[in-house]
Amino acid sequence: MGSRDYMEYNRFWNEALDVLRGELGEEEFSRWFRFAAYQEAAKGVITVGVPSGFYRDQMKVRYQRRIEAALRRVSGAEIALVFEARAPETPLPEPRRPSEGENSGQEYQPSPAIEAAIEIKKVRHPQLREDYSFERYVIGDNNNFAANAAIAISRNPGVAYNPFLIYGGVGLGKTHLMQAIGNYVHHHSDRKIIYSTAESFTNEFIQAIRDDRMPAFKNKYRFVDMLLLDDIHFLENKWETQEELFHTFNALYDANRHIIFTCDRPASELKKITERLRSRFERGLNVDLQPPDYETRCAILKSKARDKKTAVHEEVIALIAENISTNVRDLEAALTRITAYAELLGKPVTLENTRQQLKDFFPSPSAFSALKPAAVSLDAILKAVADYFGVSVSDLTGGKRAQKIARPRQITMYIAREITEFSITEIGQQFGGRHYTTVMHACEKIENQRRSDPALESAIQAIISLSSPRRHP
Ligand code: ADP
Ligand code: MG
Repeated sequence: MGSRDYMEYNRFWNEALDVLRGELGEEEFSRWFRFAAYQEAAKGVITVGVPSGFYRDQMKVRYQRRIEAALRRVSGAEIALVFEARAPETPLPEPRRPSEGENSGQEYQPSPAIEAAIEIKKVRHPQLREDYSFERYVIGDNNNFAANAAIAISRNPGVAYNPFLIYGGVGLGKTHLMQAIGNYVHHHSDRKIIYSTAESFTNEFIQAIRDDRMPAFKNKYRFVDMLLLDDIHFLENKWETQEELFHTFNALYDANRHIIFTCDRPASELKKITERLRSRFERGLNVDLQPPDYETRCAILKSKARDKKTAVHEEVIALIAENISTNVRDLEAALTRITAYAELLGKPVTLENTRQQLKDFFPSPSAFSALKPAAVSLDAILKAVADYFGVSVSDLTGGKRAQKIARPRQITMYIAREITEFSITEIGQQFGGRHYTTVMHACEKIENQRRSDPALESAIQAIISLSSPRRHP
């Protein structure tokens, strides 16, 4: 097919997108279409690349018919649409922009300059993991917004969303997403990128002072096009490093260099951080990552199994996804364990051995609720606390901050942590999606007070016996 058809179909595609944008509104449109990239056109078929299999399936279900209808309207012909998930390791294609004088009827050929540039891009970045790419990042409702923003930044670094802060609990994909931006920009431009954890930034800084090498340190961090700084919660209480980062930030920010941070909680919840540095973190765009829902967990497991080149049956995927809901790292660990076990024994992965392995791996009732129900439910604890303190359950799980509610809420979290097998992340979710660190702080606080406060101690005992099921001898 010649480039004229290529361009004509591209025009239809763009016009159809305009129709869809009008119908859906800017927000929904950009959420789903931002990185749908026109790729190929053959007779009557347009192929559109999307970042993942999950995305492809969603696009098909949600929009295929509507886009095809729009294509019919703008072209007056039947054009079918094929969504294609980009294979791992294939970079997102840059939108093809044939130059002015390009002859029609010829195949599109990248210019030598572009080819040379592609050559450079094959070299991997020394600090980034190659497999932390967008192609390997499964997008679901839990990370959609963050992933969209990350992709937008990769396409246009230094422009919008600067700085960009990704926050969320452990194992939810912060580092992966941050490095995906770095990898994409590295492979598509000559920009100089530095990735560092806040911890090594700190260590390097201390070492530089000790060795009298501060100018070299400043040169390293202040003359980059993109700085990726991972896990900034580590900077709490590190006052000198904060001071240095503050100046690094200003130098980069003033020069329109992109700065990306990750943190295990919202910047507003950081303690022992100077106000002026916190306000820098909060500039630009702050987005959170949530634990993946069931469908996304399945999609992630499938994608990881594919990466490992291991065949894992749908039922096994479903079983793991049902039982491990905390975070992606745990999902991966379970999958690795199950496939390694099967490999060692030279057996296929079956439901039977998956069950066995999962039980050993997560021996808690909540991880295997079907086999061994938790003795006390969270509901029972909530009711007991509500009765004891004369408040309502919805107050406890809601957002009110009054001490009359906040303290019983903390006590509920504490007891849940003590006598159930729920993880602090799960407990947080039961309390209106509170962050696990909030739960952790509540538990620490009550634990400390319990020792010196007999009234609290007896309240806790009473609530525990209220919420425990009657024992039948
Ligand atoms: P964090 O930095 O938030 O603790 P990581 O980025 O290290 O989490 O992610 C933990 C593991 O889970 C990594 O192996 C990563 O590749 C994987 N992971 C996290 N989110 C996703 C996702 N959406 N799709 C695929 N893999 C993911
Ligand atoms: Mg990380």
